[in-house]
Amino acid sequence: MRIARFTTASAKGEQTVAFGVVGGDATGTGGTVTRDTAGLSVTPIDGHPFAPFGPAGDPVALSDVRLLAPVLPSKIVAFGRNYAEHASELGNAVPETPIVFLKPSTSVIGPGEPIAYPPLSRNVAFEGELAVVIARLCREVPIERVPDVVLGYTCANDVTARDLQETDGQWGRAKGFDTFCPLGPWISTGLDTENLRLRTTVNGELRQDGTTAQMLRGVAELVSYVSAAMTLLPGDVILTGTPAGVGPLAVGDEVSVTIEGVGTLTNPVVAR
Ligand code: ZN
Repeated sequence: MRIARFTTASAKGEQTVAFGVVGGDATGTGGTVTRDTAGLSVTPIDGHPFAPFGPAGDPVALSDVRLLAPVLPSKIVAFGRNYAEHASELGNAVPETPIVFLKPSTSVIGPGEPIAYPPLSRNVAFEGELAVVIARLCREVPIERVPDVVLGYTCANDVTARDLQETDGQWGRAKGFDTFCPLGPWISTGLDTENLRLRTTVNGELRQDGTTAQMLRGVAELVSYVSAAMTLLPGDVILTGTPAGVGPLAVGDEVSVTIEGVGTLTNPVVAR
């Protein structure tokens, strides 16, 4: 199931925001992913996906809605250097213990929304990542219980001001600018995350082509690890690290993160 958050404009010009279930076939069965959403529809649900829900209205063509970030997390917890090849490409060793950092909720944007290139940085980079969406309040979750607390998965771009990351020491500012956490296009439930292909393109050129099988620590281990330290709330997002191939963005670029079984998240880059 794919759960989207979207807005529509009514005939009176009123904007409504709702969650909905996306029908049709955007991901295929063999892992092929298309950016073409033609023919897809979304059926609004009553309430939100963190509690039992049912349909609440007729399906709407995806082309008639604007997709929003599929969730508004209270916090985004991210892992650094969870792919060995990415660690080495930036001259870093694989960490003995996981590197955990937080991105602020205000960094979240949705599909199609612009990444604002801040004048404080000269080197803003993309990092395509698998994002885990937490289903319920939880803490100290054993690895084997993690599936019970995961709602599903979406694509993320852990946008990073690489120059500030190096000079600051701490990563909070470099990864915390407004718009530095694109999420979307929707939440895919019931995914097996052992081996999902993850690709990032910039202006259509392939830059990252990895698989979640290359993660040093898998989803269950990461969620359990975070929950041992802090309570996770419904809608919280955990970023699982980026494969090799990261690189700079420029104003005018269009960056896309595609994850097998999820879909494609595309964002333009504009000057802030
Ligand atoms: Zn990252």
